[in-house]
Amino acid sequence: MIQTTPRPAGSIPITLLESPLGKVRIDPAPGGAPLAIDQFGRRINYLRISLTDACNLRCVYCMPEDMQFMSRADLMRDEELLTLVRVAASLGVNKVRLTGGEPSIRPNVVEIVRAIAQTPGITDLAMTTNGLLLEKMAGPLAQAGLKRVNISIDTLNPEKFHTITRWGHVDDVWRAISAAEAAGLLPIKLNSVVVRNFNDREDMIDLARLTLENEWDVRFIEMMPFGEITDFQQTNVVTYAEMKQRIEAVFGPLEETTYDYVDPSRPFRIAGAAGTLGFISSVTEPFCQGCGRVRLTADGKLRLCLLREDEVDLLTPLRQGATFAELQQLMLDGAYHKPWGHGLAQGLVAGNRAMNQLGG
Ligand code: SAM
Ligand code: SF4
Repeated sequence: MIQTTPRPAGSIPITLLESPLGKVRIDPAPGGAPLAIDQFGRRINYLRISLTDACNLRCVYCMPEDMQFMSRADLMRDEELLTLVRVAASLGVNKVRLTGGEPSIRPNVVEIVRAIAQTPGITDLAMTTNGLLLEKMAGPLAQAGLKRVNISIDTLNPEKFHTITRWGHVDDVWRAISAAEAAGLLPIKLNSVVVRNFNDREDMIDLARLTLENEWDVRFIEMMPFGEITDFQQTNVVTYAEMKQRIEAVFGPLEETTYDYVDPSRPFRIAGAAGTLGFISSVTEPFCQGCGRVRLTADGKLRLCLLREDEVDLLTPLRQGATFAELQQLMLDGAYHKPWGHGLAQGLVAGNRAMNQLGG
């Protein structure tokens, strides 16, 4: 846990040093509150919330099979979570993504979506999901105000899908994609974590081929090391360069499409394809300069960088009666200390949490 030392008064930097963002515009946050901005001038406008660390799958790259989940008492209750979203929104956060664990298994998830969608200042609300429950839930979630979903699918091969997820059925994900399209949760983004010797050959090609006919964005993710399975994750990572090379060997040179430096996915298109391909190269070519994200863990800690252990406890002060203004100050001070980037190249791995507690 980091010390929540105050950010220096009146010293919010206005320009970023050497960065594709160039000058940072300081917009007032809703309600005239101070804006969450970090020591490097990055505006913090994106909150990713792990609704639960529990999951109905056990993907090999995410958690061990015998993963122990948090007790219910340790998780944020609905009203606590919504209070923290209001605090974040009052400081200029306008984008929220719900993740997990598997966010769709959280009780009351539709009502949580509705309440967040109605929070003043929140203009974009999305979810990352394995899709297992989406066939039934896509409609209600969309009606409650969810705008988009990212659906995880690491291979189209039913047997390999079963192996990677330890017991999942890929047909459930196909149904999820159809349900999400029917509910208007667009554009559809499909996430695939590429793992050496699991899905790094024809599986990538099959997924890339989907973009020829469908207006989907298929994103290949470099596997990141966390928690207790870092040996497996580091040994079996497939780099962005390698993935791109394999796809180009089949489809020819990929065309670059507009890169906004804020989305972590580097976007490309197979010539003539309806959809796009993206690569999330967090390990080998991180995108820290455009990162305006902070995360809320299921147990109410503000995680300042996915790949660093730095966190600020918000739930304990909230349960001890902290006021809205005090929570705002904790969040501002925490956000100010957001680290520039991860330390994987220096061998620093954030081992205090597994991916399912952070949500990606
Ligand atoms: N259960 C949901 C799902 O799988 O989409 C949401 C939570 S999951 C932790 C969020 C994203 O993180 C998924 O796209 C998943 O594939 C990705 N992910 C999990 N473990 C990862 C790892 N070690 N490295 C990179 N991405 C990972
Ligand atoms: Fe569950 Fe998502 Fe982790 Fe897979 S990646 S085990 S679906 S939380």
